Amino acid sequence: MIYLDHAAATPVSDKVLKAMKPFMTDDFFNPSSAYLPAARVRGMYEDAKNKIANFIGAKGNDLVITSGATEANMLACTAVSKTGKILVLETEHASVLENVKKYKYSTVKADKTGLINLTDLKAKLTDDVELVSVSLANNELGTIQPLAEISQILKEVRLSRLKKGITTQLLLHSDASQGLALIELNVARLGVDLMTLNAAKVCGPKGVGALYVGHGVRLNPVSMGGGQERGLRAGTENIAGVVGFATAIDAVKGHSTAARKKYTTLVKSLKSELEKAKVEPIFLGTPKHQLANFLPVSFPGLDAERLIFMLEEKEVYVSTGAACSASKGEPSHVLRAIGLSSKEIAGSLRISLGVLNNESNVKEAGKIIREVVDKEYARLYD
Ligand code: PLP
Repeated sequence: MIYLDHAAATPVSDKVLKAMKPFMTDDFFNPSSAYLPAARVRGMYEDAKNKIANFIGAKGNDLVITSGATEANMLACTAVSKTGKILVLETEHASVLENVKKYKYSTVKADKTGLINLTDLKAKLTDDVELVSVSLANNELGTIQPLAEISQILKEVRLSRLKKGITTQLLLHSDASQGLALIELNVARLGVDLMTLNAAKVCGPKGVGALYVGHGVRLNPVSMGGGQERGLRAGTENIAGVVGFATAIDAVKGHSTAARKKYTTLVKSLKSELEKAKVEPIFLGTPKHQLANFLPVSFPGLDAERLIFMLEEKEVYVSTGAACSASKGEPSHVLRAIGLSSKEIAGSLRISLGVLNNESNVKEAGKIIREVVDKEYARLYD
């Protein structure tokens, strides 16, 4: 098979699996128990949390471990008060967009490449806005958002509020599920107060995520019980999962430049193959501010669902938009937001490269996709 859907899921490496195993067998202890082996496990859990946190320039205590990015996004939204409002980029993942519906919220527009419209953001930053949520990189287009610039705008708004005597908080949350292996992150440099991390997208286990919580940010628990994770997310710690996440982070640390270089070359070769197709492809987003492993592409006039089915028969796996929204059978809200026509949306594929790709399988995949596109074109139009 040739797997081209790393934005949806990544394989857990042998190293990660090996690091996780002892915590399901010999070191199965509950870290909250009082005896020595349990305390040792607690220590290893805290070490793993520290490793994950250090990767984004934070400390283990700044993280709340969750059951994935969805839960972390849900927890982040609790930062807003009953009277406060959330501003959210219209192209965010459903796990953000669905959760903000529990609060007062407005959406901020994206441009045709998926980049946040900063003029719209500024116009919507009214005095009741308490939280702004903008992902690090979009999961359908790979568009990288200018978080440092956004945080600078928020600083200016905070200052002007201070001058007016308004004490409403103004926080920045970023869902950094995508792009963790390709962008060096530092929460202080970026100026984010809350950041969602996702193990499943960096060759860690599924169902493991974290929310970075900046100092002084107050949240409401997503679950209550044994008081774990500073009382914000009760439940026995997923030691194996967190150790797996930390090991996965270790594997990408310091390799982002090399990874970007690798994927830039592979995407270029894939693009040049697709350009030979009978339907002129529209490459979505822009490489100027796009994750290097993303190649979202539309073949207007063709049906992406059919293309996926034909590719599946040849064991080439890609998706239409986000895997989860695709399963709902609705047109992608992201592609609609960037102004694609229905015809362009219907013909859109999301190709995302990753650890399972190399020069030869990407070249092979390019050839197969082009053949499938040409075959569909011939069936419909020739
Ligand atoms: N946010 C983004 C940007 C994602 O790509 C995903 C996963 O596809 C999620 C959130 C949800 O992650 P999880 O399924 O781990 O809760």
